Amino acid sequence: MTYLCVAIFVTDLPKAKRDMALAAEAGADIVELRIDQFTDPRQLPPLLDRSLLPCIVTCRPISEGGRCELPSPERLALLLAAQAGKASYIDIELETIRHTKVPPDCRPFIVSSHDFTGRPERLYNILDELNASPASVAKIVWTARSIRDNLEAFEILQHKTKPTIAFCMGEHGLISRILTKKFGAFLTFCTLDNDPGTAPGQIPISDMKKLYRWDFITEKTKVYGVVANPVKHSMSPAIHNAAFDATNYDGIYLPLLVEPSYESFKAFIEEFVNFDGLHLAGLSITIPHKQNALRYLRQKNAEVEPLAQSIGSVNTIIIDRTSSTPRLRGINTDYAAILDSITAKLNITRQDLAGRNVAVLGAGGTGRTAVAALAHYGATVTVYNRTRDRADELAREFGQPPGKVAAAPLESLRHCTCPIIINTTSVGMSPNVDQSPLGQTPPPLGPDNLVFDSVYNPMKTRLLTQAQAAGARTISGVEMFVRQAVAQFEAWTGQRAPSDVMRQVIERRLAH
Ligand code: NAP
Repeated sequence: MTYLCVAIFVTDLPKAKRDMALAAEAGADIVELRIDQFTDPRQLPPLLDRSLLPCIVTCRPISEGGRCELPSPERLALLLAAQAGKASYIDIELETIRHTKVPPDCRPFIVSSHDFTGRPERLYNILDELNASPASVAKIVWTARSIRDNLEAFEILQHKTKPTIAFCMGEHGLISRILTKKFGAFLTFCTLDNDPGTAPGQIPISDMKKLYRWDFITEKTKVYGVVANPVKHSMSPAIHNAAFDATNYDGIYLPLLVEPSYESFKAFIEEFVNFDGLHLAGLSITIPHKQNALRYLRQKNAEVEPLAQSIGSVNTIIIDRTSSTPRLRGINTDYAAILDSITAKLNITRQDLAGRNVAVLGAGGTGRTAVAALAHYGATVTVYNRTRDRADELAREFGQPPGKVAAAPLESLRHCTCPIIINTTSVGMSPNVDQSPLGQTPPPLGPDNLVFDSVYNPMKTRLLTQAQAAGARTISGVEMFVRQAVAQFEAWTGQRAPSDVMRQVIERRLAH
């Protein structure tokens, strides 16, 4: 069992008692009391005696990222007093036991080593020392320099010789705090909700339990995630983990922060796909890695869906592990989401799009996806973009037979008569919610128009408000977001996606 431990920084007795009760209520298995600044030994029994949960007591010196200014012998005496009371464990730094004699009957204790600047150069020497110490639990943590550092923490857990805590700190280390359960760690730390925590990268307990499905993670749980940079605000973990929950699927979906370069993407995917025991089974790919993903899959001669090839971007990778060597396949669920949002609204098939006039605003990644998909099904597309050259480029690339895709100057948008208008620019996206890509003089809109905004935050953009006021039918970016996620879920799991649950999750998040 891997314990879920809430770390509590103790400043005063009443608050600490309240925090301990909150931790128990939130479902923690154990609490860590950080008494760095609560160093009166007479105060410890009232703190420990009535705890509902087992306690680890820690008094961290400044040199190890803590706030205690006491010399080591005094700190150790304080911890021993806690141990003589009701502490289940005390935590003593490796550096402390190197210089201060620990009494032989001091058990059980955790011996710990921390590096807040990066990976310690002598990582494995430190680990040997931790393992050789009389402590019952070894703890080694460091700040991840990249997402790949987490794999070393998993390796340490796979080869542990005693109960071990091993994970990485910082944003790059977030996944190790969660996946540490898969690899049989002694515990992981989290914070109370709305608490700053005691170390960089700690996750609030409610996120750990609800968003990241802590209670359901086992050694065999399949791992999925969104590869992006930045990734912090992605809604994909919420939508996919809710889908796994609703279908009882044994999976966990994580934010995967990978540096923008192709080399970083390549190093990440090679190491993660091939890491034994991780069971990486699928990836969502987003900014800035959609082209990197395609380039990588091409280099590996992996299967890539033809339309994803012509769009030039892959937003989903499926990792098939049914044979001894994992097989990768790349698809693009954005194009399907765009097409299906339109066809569902108009109650037509994709083939019925042939010959329909569609205006696409924007020529970036999403614009390109929309143009390629619509042209593929025979629609007649006019591309409007702020930078005209990019619109011309799309017209050249996808305009076969000639005339099926044309670029037009943005100024002429006001005269646009296309019944279907799709916005793929970021205009109107939060925080610029008062802007519309139609500008000051919009084209005439009415009940015969269908206006589709790919922007999903806010849910109701200025463009959609304008269109609805004119009586036009509308599709919001939420529809596209949910549909691309539904297609990913179905490609990875082979099961029908719980689309209503997924839609509710995203709508609830966007409503805040
Ligand atoms: P991108 O590649 O950076 O393209 C951005 C596009 O917006 C370009 O055409 C750019 O024109 C245009 N643009 C940006 N600022 C503008 C301004 N102030 N005035 C006029 N045009 C402007 O971005 P992307 O990946 O295609 O994403 C575009 C939008 O689609 C985003 O809002 C994103 O949230 C949304 N999206 C939604 C989903 C979904 O599931 N709903 C999925 C993907 C993307 P220039 O060429 O002149 O720079």
